[in-house]
This record gives sequence, structure tokens and C-alpha cells, in this order.
Amino acid sequence: MSIRLWQLHLITAGFSVASVACAASRAAQTSRDPQISGSPTTVVIDAGHGGFDRGGIPSQRIPEKEMTLDVAQRLKTLLAASGYNVVMTRDSDVFVPLPSRVAIANSYRNAIFVCIHFNSANRIGAGGIETYFYGRDSLPLASAIHYYVAGGAPSSNRGVRRRGFYVLRKTTVPAVLVECGFLTNPTEGEYVQTVSYRQKLAEEIAAGVRARNSVAASSTTRMATADSVPLQSYIDQTKTSNSERSRRHSRKKRSRSSSSKKKSSSKATGSEANVILNEQEG
Ligand SMILES: [Zn+2]
Repeated sequence: MSIRLWQLHLITAGFSVASVACAASRAAQTSRDPQISGSPTTVVIDAGHGGFDRGGIPSQRIPEKEMTLDVAQRLKTLLAASGYNVVMTRDSDVFVPLPSRVAIANSYRNAIFVCIHFNSANRIGAGGIETYFYGRDSLPLASAIHYYVAGGAPSSNRGVRRRGFYVLRKTTVPAVLVECGFLTNPTEGEYVQTVSYRQKLAEEIAAGVRARNSVAASSTTRMATADSVPLQSYIDQTKTSNSERSRRHSRKKRSRSSSSKKKSSSKATGSEANVILNEQEG
């Protein structure tokens, strides 16, 4: 983080010099170049699920894998037009194992990872936008993306959350997983099935990517801070009326609190869907 801030100061200083030399040229450059010095930032876009992995829950009508891919492809177009080097973990309806997705992200030194998902729940009233990060270096990116997506969506704001999803734990670059609404929510599901709304989601995510450095340097209280977003265990977000599950979760909670180093049980070769299913409502 400190290195990034130091770089930002250098970039800011560079802006001052440039503004004296040629303000018009600088304006043109900043609108095109995602990074003023060095190679362009690589954005690895990860469309959740794919292939046999449809995403969501069995009773779900809207296929998550299709919605994530469509938003990802729109985001790709937007970011490429802004000068970013864009890499897709999948660009068609294929299944890509989570370790492969992570390996793609980690193969780029100067990269950020944006994972796109939609939520699902048995309780149809569940709704809203939530954005996940794990490593502290990922918080500015998560805050920026969440600020724009939650601000631009008609859905409720479920907040920026810190949790050890496989793709967030294993990536060595700033990584974010954004849940762009609940496909099982009638209102959000209707929105997501329109092209204009999926385009809107992509535009808001792109705005967050572009704004991530200003969030890192900003002290504004509108954004989440590292201290305000504690690490959440998987069971924290689980709301269920099933008493057996509640008891099971309670036992897990006790065992986890007695072993703070206990690792998550997400499967490396499985789908994030399974993890999310276990963690989200229902
Ligand atoms: Zn998903």
C-alpha cells in the first residue's frame, strides 16, 4: 500500500509538470492511459461459472453463467477502450477450474482481478449488491467498484465484505469479487435480463476500476477502510430457518473461534458456486 501511495505521489507530481507543459495533451493522455508511467494495467476479468456449472441454486430460472459472461464481455469492451490490457479467464460458455482462473491472474505482474457473480437465495426477498475482497491491498479496488456498482444499481447496498473465497485468497494481485444482485429476486432478476442494465453494471464496474487509485489515496469516509471491514467467517452471512443447519453452524462457529488459524474448506478444483451456495442466504 505504501509503495502504491508513493507511486501515486510521483504520478501526481508528474501531473503538475505536465499541466504546465501542455494541459490539453495531459487531458488526452489521462482519458486514454490507465497508467501514466510503465506498462498498462492488466485487468483480468473473471466471469463466474460456465459450462456445466450454471451457477446459483437448482430452482433458479435465470442462468448465472450467462449473465456473468455478458457483463464480463461488456466490461472487457469498456476497459479495452480505456487503454487497459484486458484478459478474460473465459470468453465463452466453458468451465474453467478455479485454480486455472487464479493462475491466469497471477501470471501478470501488473494486474488486477475482477470476478463477476450474481447471488441467489431460497428467500426471494433477498437482494442487493455486495463486493468481496480478502487481501488488504485489494480493499481500494473493492471499495471503488462497490461504490459505483451499489451507487448505480436500484438494489440495496449489502456492503463491502472481507471473505476468503478461493479466487480471492489465492490471487497474488489485487482481487475483487462483485455480486451484482440476486437473480432469485424478482425485481433484480428482471433488471438483469435487460441489455441496458447489464451494460450499466459493466459501466459501473469499469468506473470503479478507473477510480481505484484515487480511492487508495483518499481519506473520504464514504469508502470502506481496512479497519471498518473485518474478516467475516463463512457462516456470518448465512441466514436460515433450518434449525439443523443453525446448530451445525453454531458448532462450526465454536470450533472456529477455538482455532483462529483454521483454513476455509473451499475446494480448489470445484466451483466458487458451491462455496457461495454454502455461504449465502439459503
Ligand atoms: Zn456465482
